[in-house]
Amino acid sequence: MLSDNIFLKIVEGKIPAKIIHSDDQCLAFHDIHPQAPVHVLIIPRKVIATHDTLQKEDAPLLGHMNLVAVKLAQELGLVDGYRLIINCKDQGGQTVPHLHMHLMGGRPLSWPPG
Ligand code: AMP
Repeated sequence: MLSDNIFLKIVEGKIPAKIIHSDDQCLAFHDIHPQAPVHVLIIPRKVIATHDTLQKEDAPLLGHMNLVAVKLAQELGLVDGYRLIINCKDQGGQTVPHLHMHLMGGRPLSWPPG
């Protein structure tokens, strides 16, 4: 996993991103290397390094991020379905040390993932 938290720089407005949703709790923007016709990242404003460091107090935030995913899936036309993915640490394929949810769709997604 990278040591640099590039997503915090996006939260702080220090580097650009194609932002499609912003509120007091989270941001969503297009992935820079999309793996599907729709590939969006939903991230909390709060720095949470990995999924396995979530605390009980973060439950409403995660619920909110899921509802943002539903809203974006509707706005982006994912009527036939989509996939939400959270990669956790090295074996989970996480590269950026800031919790993020991938919203992917627009093509059939195979299972199991690699
Ligand atoms: P993960 O492997 O789950 O940590 O996912 C990190 C994702 O962030 C990858 O899909 C990258 O393509 C994406 N990514 C990295 N840097 C940026 C950036 N500056 N803007 C948008 N997406 C990015």
